[in-house]
Amino acid sequence: MGTATIGSGEAALAFLARQRLAPTPQNYTLAYIALHEPASRIACAVRAISDDGLRIRQEEADEIVALYAGDSVRHPREAIASPTEEDTGERQRLHAQAARLGQLTAHAAAATQDFTRDLDSEAQRLDDQAARTVQIVARMIERSKLAEDNFRTALQAIESLQTELASARDEAERDPLTGLPNRRCIERRLQDLAANGINRTIGLCDVDHFKRVNDRFGHTVGDRVLKMVATSLAASCAPHFVGRWGGEEFILVIEGDAAPHCVGLLDQARADLASRRFKLRETDEPLGRISFSAGVAVAMGEEVETLSALHRADAAMYQAKQGGRNQVVVD
Ligand code: GH3
Ligand code: MG
Ligand code: MG
Repeated sequence: MGTATIGSGEAALAFLARQRLAPTPQNYTLAYIALHEPASRIACAVRAISDDGLRIRQEEADEIVALYAGDSVRHPREAIASPTEEDTGERQRLHAQAARLGQLTAHAAAATQDFTRDLDSEAQRLDDQAARTVQIVARMIERSKLAEDNFRTALQAIESLQTELASARDEAERDPLTGLPNRRCIERRLQDLAANGINRTIGLCDVDHFKRVNDRFGHTVGDRVLKMVATSLAASCAPHFVGRWGGEEFILVIEGDAAPHCVGLLDQARADLASRRFKLRETDEPLGRISFSAGVAVAMGEEVETLSALHRADAAMYQAKQGGRNQVVVD
């Protein structure tokens, strides 16, 4: 009878599965009676619905139980609690199986509840993680902005340093009185040309009797005259290189072997200067004629030739002085 009961129970569960009815204690009882008490009204009612292949819906199952509960399955719980005398043994086993089924269902429900709770806490964990990630990303963005600002500030500092450096270099190579390139700059220029294989035509100019200007009008006026000579010479010889060689001496450097051109430019500059009538700003007193004497020489090839050309230009200038000043002599 025990083996038959387990088999009967499995058959009842299989019936519920076929009918797609939940294995609740009430459905189980219904199925059990339908299968094992074929003469009962419950079994007849079940057959009436399901015999032609239709499935029993839960509402129909509930209705059958409600209608014929008094017969065999009064109410699942009542049926289990108050078995009739003729089927006491079978119903007790049914009772036990139904109770077990109830337990299984309760366990399944509890497991589902646990799973839902796990899902909830996992979702919460993901939420927290997302919030932390957002915080980290926000901090990263902030830091990268800070780095960008620092980088920009550093770049500005570098640029202003470069500007300062350029202006310092410019100052170091510029004569403060006249604003022309100074001796250091002139020498670098001559070196660069030689290094690049460019010939140099040099014109050395010396203001005539400049000592007299100083002696007569004072050093400040002498300075003003030097500035004026520098501006005039640079303008006349543009775009060629004009620098202050030292004292009241200036230099013109033309690229290439160009002595005649150099003489022409200097002669024109000299004549322009000599034709102007300078007066003392304060008293309108005439300063007298301002002129210069110049010597021209060419440095061909190597750098060593530069020094030689400078000597020759100087010698030519001396000749110009000897020849009566206010003139240009070529080597
Ligand atoms: P020469 O025609 O033979 O060249 O006669 P010079 O008087 O021009 O020549 P000298 O070499 O005897 O005098 C040059 C003077 O130039 C002497 C110096 O005091 C003056 N001098 C040099 N540099 C400056 C300067 O920066 N400012 C002023 N005011 N005078 C200067
Ligand atoms: Mg001199
Ligand atoms: Mg002089």
